[in-house]
Amino acid sequence: MSDCMFCKIVKREVPASIVSESPDWMSFNDINPQAPVHIVLIPKKHAAGLSDFPLSEAQLLSSLLFEASRIAKEKKLDGPGYRLVLNTSVNGGQTVPHLHFHILGGRRMTWPPG
Ligand code: 5GP
Ligand code: ZN
Repeated sequence: MSDCMFCKIVKREVPASIVSESPDWMSFNDINPQAPVHIVLIPKKHAAGLSDFPLSEAQLLSSLLFEASRIAKEKKLDGPGYRLVLNTSVNGGQTVPHLHFHILGGRRMTWPPG
């Protein structure tokens, strides 16, 4: 999608502090971090949300979860813990309509979320 901010990051039209990348996904530091570690992990192919993700891409979806886990280990979050968040649409607080996980760590999270 040409006007999608995360697609622009994938195409290098907008700069980002990239954490990791494969042909299928990319992770980068959030521009407005809500925790000492706040990384956004996206599939490179545009999909607004989970419901737009076809079953044929199930392997990509699981690879995102494994990459989130790998990043958490790399950032030493797996010991103290961390939060993996997927905001969806208006009530979920999604502001960028390109499917993404937030990896948040380095501080104690509260529950329920705001
Ligand atoms: P959402 O609210 O959609 O779940 O999360 C979108 C996230 O993307 C927000 O945490 C926001 O700070 C981050 N974000 C929005 N635009 C940019 C950008 O241009 N660069 C980076 N690195 N993060 C962005
Ligand atoms: Zn996009």
